Amino acid sequence: MVKARIFTPGPTPLPEDVKLSQAKDIIHHRTPEFSEVFERVCEGLKYIFQTRNDVFVFSSSGTGAMEAVVANLFSPGDEVLVVRGGKFGERWAEIGEAFGLKVTAMDVEWGKAPDPLKIGEELHKNKNIRAVFTQLVETSTGVVYDVETIGKVVSETSAVLVVDAISGLGAEPLLTDSWKIDVVVAGSQKGLMLPPGLSFICLSEKAWQLTKNSSLPRYYWDLNKAKQAFVKRQTPFTPSVSLICALDSSLELIKKEGLENVIKRHRLFAEAVRRAVSKMRLKVFGDPSSNAVTAILVPEGINERTLRKKMQDEFGVIIAGGQGRLSGKIVRIAHLGWMDKLDVIGVICAFEMSMFQLGYELILGEAARAVEEVFVERKY
Ligand code: PMP
Repeated sequence: MVKARIFTPGPTPLPEDVKLSQAKDIIHHRTPEFSEVFERVCEGLKYIFQTRNDVFVFSSSGTGAMEAVVANLFSPGDEVLVVRGGKFGERWAEIGEAFGLKVTAMDVEWGKAPDPLKIGEELHKNKNIRAVFTQLVETSTGVVYDVETIGKVVSETSAVLVVDAISGLGAEPLLTDSWKIDVVVAGSQKGLMLPPGLSFICLSEKAWQLTKNSSLPRYYWDLNKAKQAFVKRQTPFTPSVSLICALDSSLELIKKEGLENVIKRHRLFAEAVRRAVSKMRLKVFGDPSSNAVTAILVPEGINERTLRKKMQDEFGVIIAGGQGRLSGKIVRIAHLGWMDKLDVIGVICAFEMSMFQLGYELILGEAARAVEEVFVERKY
């Protein structure tokens, strides 16, 4: 018998309260009962996003929210700058191109973070650029970007800053308002500890202004429709009621722990995993490595598919492989969302034992010990 344990950067494990709240009878979305839950949820999201602006909820995975932002803020031919340092940077560029925007990609070596000053230079060179698109955490490389400094740079121009915080929200600090971020998108199946199926968008006044002049077609994804419905604490169309009730539970858990503590916990877990990795004489891919996920270079002689299969078959542990050009080269261990110390010890033990059995030279228990040492040294 093995218990299934998921350590991927989405979906992430579900707390019991979140599971149970989805099992309740459905409530109708045009009732005061729903509006009461929705109001509480939207207030809770403002806390997680650290914003005074409203956060809008959509029934889709994160990519839906990415597309909605493009469709609502721009017109065909608008020039935008995309930080392209991994698979999700590529996604911004692909969506922009699909909607007829003139995309300039700022290519960043996969595994590196963009230099905010270079973004400033691009904006200075081309005053027609209307937006900068980036990630908070580029999940495909495990790298966290310096969104705070990017915010400073972009806010001095007429462009808006659009941040995909889909995997970073709840794992990394993200101060939407004080970092002057105009648009943040996120998804449910990551730090918010929910199943996939909800996405979130938060816009600054500067971003709302852009929606007025945007001529791209939209109907279901019209943010102004969402804004109108929000006056009545409703959504324009049938929302994912059960997921919104589940979100009510997960936000309660985050509030109880305190957002700052949640982030500190993620930082501690990331550090513990990195210490274990270095004890195993392995290399973390990507710098700076995020609090959400650690990418690890697979050493010569180890097949990452065999490794992941072994971890799953023998220990029920699911970790992620590499995406795109990193396929076969890295594995990614997420420490995101509903995780505690024993989860981290568990995933490292499974990793260490599987590597050992595949012939990688190591002293059993050393990696686990490295994690334990971090945990006995500090609470956070
Ligand atoms: N951006 C980032 C940074 C992500 O991590 C993901 C999901 N891995 C996405 C976008 C896409 O989100 P979804 O799969 O929910 O559409």
